[in-house]
Amino acid sequence: MYISTRGGKGRFTAAEAIKTGLAPDGGLLVPEKLPCLDGGFLTELVELDYHQRAARILKLFLDDYSAEEIDACLKAAYSAVKFDDKAIAPVVKLVGDISVLELWHGPTSAFKDMALQLLPQLLSLALKKTGEKAEIVILVATSGDTGKAALEGFSDVAQTKIVVFYPYQGVSAIQELQMVTQEGSNVAVVAVRGNFDDAQTGVKNIFNDSDYRADLEANGFKLSSANSINWGRLLPQIVYYFSSYADLVKGGHIMAGQKVNFVVPTGNFGNILAGYYAKLMGLPVNKLICAANNNNVLTDFLRTGIYNRERDFYKTLSPSMDILISSNLERLLYLVSDGDAAKVAGWMRELTNRGCYQVDEECLKAIQETFWSDWASDAATVDAISNVFKEYRYVMDPHTAVAWRVYENYRQTTGDATPTVVVSTASPFKFSASVLTAIAGPEAAGGKNDFAVLRELSAVTGWQVPLALAGLERKAIRHSLVGNKEEMLEIVKKTLK
Ligand SMILES: *Cc1c(COP(=O)(O)O)cnc(C)c1O
Repeated sequence: MYISTRGGKGRFTAAEAIKTGLAPDGGLLVPEKLPCLDGGFLTELVELDYHQRAARILKLFLDDYSAEEIDACLKAAYSAVKFDDKAIAPVVKLVGDISVLELWHGPTSAFKDMALQLLPQLLSLALKKTGEKAEIVILVATSGDTGKAALEGFSDVAQTKIVVFYPYQGVSAIQELQMVTQEGSNVAVVAVRGNFDDAQTGVKNIFNDSDYRADLEANGFKLSSANSINWGRLLPQIVYYFSSYADLVKGGHIMAGQKVNFVVPTGNFGNILAGYYAKLMGLPVNKLICAANNNNVLTDFLRTGIYNRERDFYKTLSPSMDILISSNLERLLYLVSDGDAAKVAGWMRELTNRGCYQVDEECLKAIQETFWSDWASDAATVDAISNVFKEYRYVMDPHTAVAWRVYENYRQTTGDATPTVVVSTASPFKFSASVLTAIAGPEAAGGKNDFAVLRELSAVTGWQVPLALAGLERKAIRHSLVGNKEEMLEIVKKTLK
C-alpha cells in the first residue's frame, strides 16, 4: 500500500496511487514498506533480458496487477518499434571501471521514455481496476523532455487527455519541435511565459484548486499527473539500476555483490531517487553522485542540509536540469527521516512560505552516507563533451557531460576507485548544436538550421541520427499557443470544453 509523505490519512493500492498521482494532502505517495532483496534475486537477474528483469521488480510493487498484466504493459512499453536498441537500456564500457548507462534509446531520445512509455499502460489498467468512469486529464509541466515523452506515451490512449506546458523559449529548438508537432486527438501543447518552475507551480496550483477539481469532476474529468511525482513514473526507473548492475556482472566488469557508484545528472531528483530506492532494496550501491548544473540548489542542499530556492535562475546548456524546486526530494526526506511525515510536512511548509528549510543533523548524516554532489558550469560541460570525444570517441549530450565532469571532480576529491556507472540521460542529437559546437567548434554549427546541424553532427562523429529526430523535419506544426502563467487554469478549462 502507498501512503502520503505528509501523513495524511489514507492507504492506497498501487493502481489508486498511479491514478491519483499526488496524495490528497499535497504530499507524495510512497510505499509503506520496501521489499528487501537478497543476493539470489540479483544473481537471477543476470541471465534475464530487460523485459524479464523489469517484470521481477515491478511485481514487487504492483501486487494488485497480475503477472500477465505486467507483462502486457512491458511489451507495449519497451517494444522494438519504440526502442532502437534491443537491450532497451544498454550499458557501454567507456574506460577502465567506468561505464555509461544509455537511457535514451526510446522514441523521444531521452531518458523520460523509460518511465513514460510504461506509465500510460499502468494507468490505463489502473482505471479499469478501480472502476473509474471519468476521463483522466494529465497535466504536465516540462523543462523539455518530459513533455514530449508524456505526449508520446499518452497520445490516443483511451480515457485520457493530456495538456503539456513548457517554458516559452526555455527548451531547445528540437525539443520544441518534437512537442509542437505532436499528433493525437487527445493532446494539447502550450508555451508559458516564464521558467520551468513557473510552469510547475502553475500545474500544482491547478491541482490544489479544490473548487476547480470539483467542477471538473461534475463534468466527468479527473486530474492526474505524469510528472515525476507520480509513483508510476518513479517505479520504472528503479528497474534500470538493477538491470545495469546485472549487465556489469554479466559482462565480467564486477563481481556479484560488489559495490558500484552511479553518477546521475539531476533536476527534479526522480532519476537519482530511483537509484536510492534500489539501494534500499538491496542493490550494492556505494555512492549516488548527484550532478547539477549552474542551478546548483541540490548540491548546496546535499552538502549543507539547507534547501534554499531563493536564488537566481540560470538557463544552461543542460535545460532539463534547470530546476530550483526538486519535487522528488520530498520522498528522500521522508525516507531519511524514517517516515516522520510531520517533519516532512513542516519542511515543505517552510519551503512554500519562506522559500527555504534546513533538515536536522541526523537526516543530513543519513543523506551524506549515500549522496555526494557537485555541479558543472556550462564551460566545464563543453570541455567535458570535447574531451570525452577526443579521448574515447564517445559522444555525450550536455546533461551526461555534466555528470561526467562532476564524476571527475568526485574521483579527484575522494580518490574513490569504486566501479562507476555514468547515467546518460539524452541522445547527443537532442542537443546537437551544443554538442557539435563543443566537438567541432562554433563554425561547424553556425548559420545552419537544426536539421543541417543534426546531419553535421552525424558526419563529424560517425554516430547515426535517431530516426524520430531526423523525421521531425517533415512534420507539420500543430500547436502554437503561448500563454501567461496566470492563464494556465483558463487554458485547461478551454481545452476541456
Ligand atoms: C529530466 C532530465 C534530467 C533530470 O532528471 P530528474 O529525474 O528530473 O532528476 C536529466 N537529463 C535529462 C536529459 C532529462 O530529460
